[in-house]
Amino acid sequence: MESLDKVFDVIVVGAGTGGATAARFAAQNGLDVCLLDRKPRNEIGSKICGDAVGKEIFTLLNIKPPRGEELSCPIIGAKLYPPNREKCIEMKDPKQTGYIIDRIKFGQRLLKEALEAGVNTFLDNTMALDLVYTNKIVSGVKIKLENGEKVDLKSKIVIDASGLYSPLRKKIESDIIEKEISDTDAILCYREIVTFPKQDQEVQDPQYISIILDQEKAPGGYIWYFPKDDHSLNIGLGVYMNYGGKVKDLYKKHVYNEFINASEVKILSSGGGVAPVRRPLWSCVDNGIMFVGDAAFQVNPLHGGGIDPSMRGGYYAALTAASAIESGDYSMEKLWDYNCKVMINFGAEFAALDLLRRVLQSLSNSDLNFGLQKDLLTASEILQIAETGDLTLSLWDMAFKAFKGIMRPDLLLDLNYLRLRMNEIAKIYKHFPKTSKTFPQWKERVREQYKKIEKMIIDLKSNRK
Ligand SMILES: Cc1cc2nc3c(=O)[nH]c(=O)nc-3n(C[C@H](O)[C@H](O)[C@H](O)COP(=O)(O)OP(=O)(O)OC[C@H]3O[C@@H](n4cnc5c(N)ncnc54)[C@H](O)[C@@H]3O)c2cc1C
Repeated sequence: MESLDKVFDVIVVGAGTGGATAARFAAQNGLDVCLLDRKPRNEIGSKICGDAVGKEIFTLLNIKPPRGEELSCPIIGAKLYPPNREKCIEMKDPKQTGYIIDRIKFGQRLLKEALEAGVNTFLDNTMALDLVYTNKIVSGVKIKLENGEKVDLKSKIVIDASGLYSPLRKKIESDIIEKEISDTDAILCYREIVTFPKQDQEVQDPQYISIILDQEKAPGGYIWYFPKDDHSLNIGLGVYMNYGGKVKDLYKKHVYNEFINASEVKILSSGGGVAPVRRPLWSCVDNGIMFVGDAAFQVNPLHGGGIDPSMRGGYYAALTAASAIESGDYSMEKLWDYNCKVMINFGAEFAALDLLRRVLQSLSNSDLNFGLQKDLLTASEILQIAETGDLTLSLWDMAFKAFKGIMRPDLLLDLNYLRLRMNEIAKIYKHFPKTSKTFPQWKERVREQYKKIEKMIIDLKSNRK
């Protein structure tokens, strides 16, 4: 192992999808990178997950798509069901195609490719404990090595990709980084990977991922039914964090017992996890540090998918790091460009979806059944909308059309109001401030949109009573 008594250009904490991507592109840009993870090398990539990832990210970053043992099965679309499952919205377009992956094999490959790209130092079994500061600027990470020794590792820039419960985010001395996530902005999940003899049970729609909305069986979240192959499934559910019961019991009752009927079932993997479902951190940077992936709440708020955005975040952070190192300036102002890239490229979409998610969580099963059962959405319309590339509008159109004709005009008005707020917040994000100086005013404008939606949800609930 190389000497640790030096100043790295970049220390990347966490070698998951976000960290491995950040390290790879930082190394490709010629930076001296140290990548570390608390897990042993052969476990990097393992994670309780739905294992679904879209195609787009591989083209965008020019990374080979999953193949061979890494690929469980290709996916050609998504099916969204209301609680009574009498009808589904089928989405079959380039945006919905992708893969179900073998999570650990995929993670191992990303790690291998990062190391091949030139990461100079890789430390596994190494725990990041805290940040090191010089003159109030982050200048490294306090770590505990495999042998128990504690060391201050020094760097020009730290990229934190250590996941939702990042110890570094919690300890940062910052006015603009939120340390904690609210319980209402995350969902608690439980899932199993099950396999059964082919003749015992058929996997339904083996080329689609299926999502079932149901406020009683999966309050505040949804049930997922993802094929692994023709005789295995990744199946689970997500619910409100403060649901108050055991999520595993809900899974057994409403997922396993309802969807698995084979007599011989092997559970290959099981476990729970927490997925953030909100817009990204207000700011993903401060002096000498950038946050990537789950550590920065960079997830799609509608379904909790975070593999793609963590890889995008890692890529953008690496580009910003390369430019900062070249200029010799690692201040928040210099790193601010990373915020701009995140907020403009996917933060805008995620902020709009965050508003939609909040409203969907407040709808009842009968609202969902009625809305989704109406045959008001065609596959060609979705394709047309998807082609415009405006996901905010396309999702709104989906929600609006699905609810058109509802016997509750108040709900229609609410959804129209939601559309306006989604458009407005996306616009505000697209004009993310180029420097931190006007950031407080920008933040206030975002807050106003949230307040308006919160008020709408309160009114919607009280009208229902
Ligand atoms: C149940 C569930 C299902 C999901 N399903 C999907 C899905 O189908 N598709 C999808 O796209 N997303 C899904 N997600 C979300 C997705 O898994 C995450 O968004 C994504 O993995 C985030 O990647 P990351 O690199 O930011 O963090 P992680 O993958 O969590 O990686 C963080 C890394 O940091 C390391 N680490 C943590 N703490 C320290 C420390 N102190 N010191 C050193 N190393 C540390 C960890 O060991 C880990 O390797 C799901 C999430 C859950 C919980």
